[in-house]
Amino acid sequence: MLYLCATPIGNLGDMSNRILDTLREVDLIAAEDTRNSIKLLNHFEIKTPMTSYHEYNKYDKAAELIKKMQEGLNVALITDAGTPAISDPGEVLVKMCHESGIKVTSLPGPCACITALTLSGLPTRRFAFEAFLPSDKKERRVILEELKSESRTIIIYEAPHHLKNTLDELFEALGNRKITLCRELTKKFEDIMPVTLEEAITYYNENEPKGEYVLVIEGKSYEEKRAEEVLKWEEISIEEHMKIYEAKGLDKKEAMKAVAKDRGVSKREIYEYLLN
Ligand code: SAM
Repeated sequence: MLYLCATPIGNLGDMSNRILDTLREVDLIAAEDTRNSIKLLNHFEIKTPMTSYHEYNKYDKAAELIKKMQEGLNVALITDAGTPAISDPGEVLVKMCHESGIKVTSLPGPCACITALTLSGLPTRRFAFEAFLPSDKKERRVILEELKSESRTIIIYEAPHHLKNTLDELFEALGNRKITLCRELTKKFEDIMPVTLEEAITYYNENEPKGEYVLVIEGKSYEEKRAEEVLKWEEISIEEHMKIYEAKGLDKKEAMKAVAKDRGVSKREIYEYLLN
């Protein structure tokens, strides 16, 4: 069978005993980058033979590995870091195993997106994991357009040399949302920065991005969505109308002014209504 084995995303102490036992017991370890994984295996004195399984051989190699498993071998899949099949070619192997009747199990462990989400301080109940935004410009535009109306918390992976550009694009598409930048998770210089997109852009205009990043961004608020749905302001109560502006960051006085303008009445009328 196939064992998906999560490996540390920066701290070797996160390697579980069950995964260590499995890596020692299987017949073969398929690794995304054998040069990288050999360091991990050496550290834990694991002598199991290793073979490469990566983006550029993911179909042919999957067929080869499946043949071995059909002959009775047990295979473990590990990636450069974290949980296999999350933003790496593992998903292809899993799909092909299901199609060939090979049993698959997952030994859970570190995963950058979940670690970042739990640290973000943003709503965790509903989230959308985007992995890396596509590098193809057209595809990227389509995804950013989709994200404009995403109400779940959004999680994006990013490399340091693309960070500034991605922050600019996110600001342009989503406006000034809350964002938590999670850098070097589980490592010595782990850094969690809960800011707004505008603040993040200002910060990275003065500081060079370093290390690996997960960006966690707040989804579109209910109030923002509601504001788009409303055709006539009279359809909603003055209280709900006020909440829409307050959710955008306006104080009570500014919100009253905006509500009065939308409804074509004086600010005083709104004030007196709310007072009563
Ligand atoms: N399979 C992995 C997982 O479970 O999260 C993700 C692999 S993906 C190819 C690599 C990306 O994950 C990095 O570019 C970065 O965005 C994120 N990442 C991995 N380790 C990280 C860490 N220690 N701190 C912050 N981000 C990390």
